[in-house]
Amino acid sequence: MKLKLAIYWGAACGGCDVAILDVHEKLLDIADAADIYLWPIAMDFKYSDVEKMEDGYLDVAMYSGAIRNSENEEIAHLLRKKAKVMVALGSCAHLGGIPSLANLFTREEILNRVYIDSESTVNKEKIFPTEAWSNGNGEELELPKFYNTVKSLDQVVDVDYYIPGCPPVPLQIFSAFTLIRDGMLPPKGAVIGAGDRALCDQCERKKEEKKITEIKRIQEAIPDPERCFLEQGFICLGPVTRAGCGARCINSGVPCRGCYGPVDGVYDQGVKMLSALASVLEPKEQEEIDRIIDTIPAPLRTFQRFSMAASMLRRKKV
Ligand code: SF4
Ligand code: SF4
Ligand code: SF4
Repeated sequence: MKLKLAIYWGAACGGCDVAILDVHEKLLDIADAADIYLWPIAMDFKYSDVEKMEDGYLDVAMYSGAIRNSENEEIAHLLRKKAKVMVALGSCAHLGGIPSLANLFTREEILNRVYIDSESTVNKEKIFPTEAWSNGNGEELELPKFYNTVKSLDQVVDVDYYIPGCPPVPLQIFSAFTLIRDGMLPPKGAVIGAGDRALCDQCERKKEEKKITEIKRIQEAIPDPERCFLEQGFICLGPVTRAGCGARCINSGVPCRGCYGPVDGVYDQGVKMLSALASVLEPKEQEEIDRIIDTIPAPLRTFQRFSMAASMLRRKKV
């Protein structure tokens, strides 16, 4: 019996779908083991085809992307009902991802920025998208409702497993798929296809337990390619980020930005990183600590780049 698989994207960039295709020839193994019943980026299936399925008909639904509008949420509920196993694929579904940085603004601020204040838009009549439109002759159109707050997948439906990363490393998607195919899944709620240690444990850069006196940005100084970024003053989220990506940013010469999410047992990746940073700061006087902290560019976007929706803060207060 082949697995019945659905792949869907909510508020996503499509990178997770591309990561699935990037398993290259192993895609043939997936095709051997599974029939695809929904994959909007690749094939022309209709939602109505899914609605007609019996509940639990699909074996697995892989959902990438955050929940930003009513359509994202509606399909998340539909797939949850139709699939035995629901997998959050990638940072956006896992923790809200980059789209949830929009939680630093209100819905109105975002719509104004895009439709009124944009440098590339002429909109003298101040026309905004409407959720329902009718031409008076019985023709009606509907647009999804644009939410004020972006959510992670498990903030709207029950999620069985998580595959982290922005995007996940393709071979991890494949190994997660083989676990599903072979019936070797870990207990519900687990992160699959990644490690349970911090990225620092796998990083080969030299750590000398040096304290830092300043924060640097990667475009402002040339880092020593052998030494730990953090000990050189570059913010690297390795101490609080789950290993599993193969340190792909570190090996490309840039610090980790945290896309694999927090390690097990860490509730808030950004807050934990603040604590890790505090432990490597040299100064002990409050005034000097404040001076260094003030040089961190856009702290929320630095510490919660991929996890704003799942953070304690979750969104700007309105
Ligand atoms: S996790 Fe990254 S690659 Fe995947 S949809 Fe979100 S932004 Fe795109
Ligand atoms: S902080 Fe970054 S550079 Fe330093 S050891 Fe950890 S992952 Fe490597
Ligand atoms: S190094 Fe960090 S940001 Fe880069 S892929 Fe790995 S977890 Fe993601």
